[in-house]
Amino acid sequence: MDRLVDLHMHSTASDGTLTPGEVVAMAREEGLAAIALTDHDTTAGLPEAIAAGRRLGVEVVPGIEISAKRERGTLHIVGLFIDPGDGRLEERCQALRAERGRRNERIVSRLCELGMPVTLDEVRGKSGGGVIGRPHFAAVMVEKGYVATREEAFDRWLAKGQPAYFPKALLDPAESIAMIHDAGGVAVCAHPSQLRCAGERELEGAIAELRHHGLDAIETQWSTATAEEMALTERIAGRQRLLRSGGSDFHGGNKPDIRMGVARGQIRVTADVLEALRRAARPRART
Ligand code: AMP
Ligand code: ZN
Ligand code: FE
Ligand code: FE
Repeated sequence: MDRLVDLHMHSTASDGTLTPGEVVAMAREEGLAAIALTDHDTTAGLPEAIAAGRRLGVEVVPGIEISAKRERGTLHIVGLFIDPGDGRLEERCQALRAERGRRNERIVSRLCELGMPVTLDEVRGKSGGGVIGRPHFAAVMVEKGYVATREEAFDRWLAKGQPAYFPKALLDPAESIAMIHDAGGVAVCAHPSQLRCAGERELEGAIAELRHHGLDAIETQWSTATAEEMALTERIAGRQRLLRSGGSDFHGGNKPDIRMGVARGQIRVTADVLEALRRAARPRART
């Protein structure tokens, strides 16, 4: 039987609810051979995850997830096999986190104006000390009874186009990819359905453009993917000669319907997918 891996997940270093060590412990419980920890804009969770992985016999691939500019939908680039100690990567992440800090203050003010007062401290309390993102706002809004569910918090208030949405200052796709390459990693287009392309041709055009900027791989399995979407991205990966990746985008209690390794039961990422990505990363690694 092929061992299963999960190459996209979050911890309390960003907007997941399990600590990096707990994520790895759960991966072991689930029988996963390897995971990638891919927190938003930070590598802070990696040392703890890697140490836990050594202890528990689960390979931990050092990763990160960066949001990039896109006119429609959202574009997330996952980096895998990055060097967690890369100084330039840390510097660039710090700038992204500073930008988030300004955005968080705006969201706080807007929610107050909208009659749903929250404080930055309350939001920070949900973040476990990690990078603060919209899921933490959603959690506070549920707790304070402003909305019934996290989904409602996004759908009515926090999602793009809603009254408490503020964009982050985003990097260009080329910059995001270069930042991952410079840190020794491979760059993966995450959850391609979020690009909101109208069909296979349009998606292939968007992916081809990213490939032109150095993209190495595309997720062909992700948490919301249908069988049809997975087949379509497989075809695009083949034609564009991109590697495949995939993962659940596990966030613990912030996405309670997602189970690591299997997402909603429809994904199954095998160890050979990881090996191909490892081979692509090897020439880039610096020692
Ligand atoms: P941020 O990085 O602060 O923009 O927040 C991004 C996080 O919010 C990711 O983990 C997303 O999965 C989550 N998210 C974005 N849109 C939604 C939505 N409509 N419903 C639930 N979670 C969402
Ligand atoms: Zn997230
Ligand atoms: Fe994402
Ligand atoms: Fe993610």
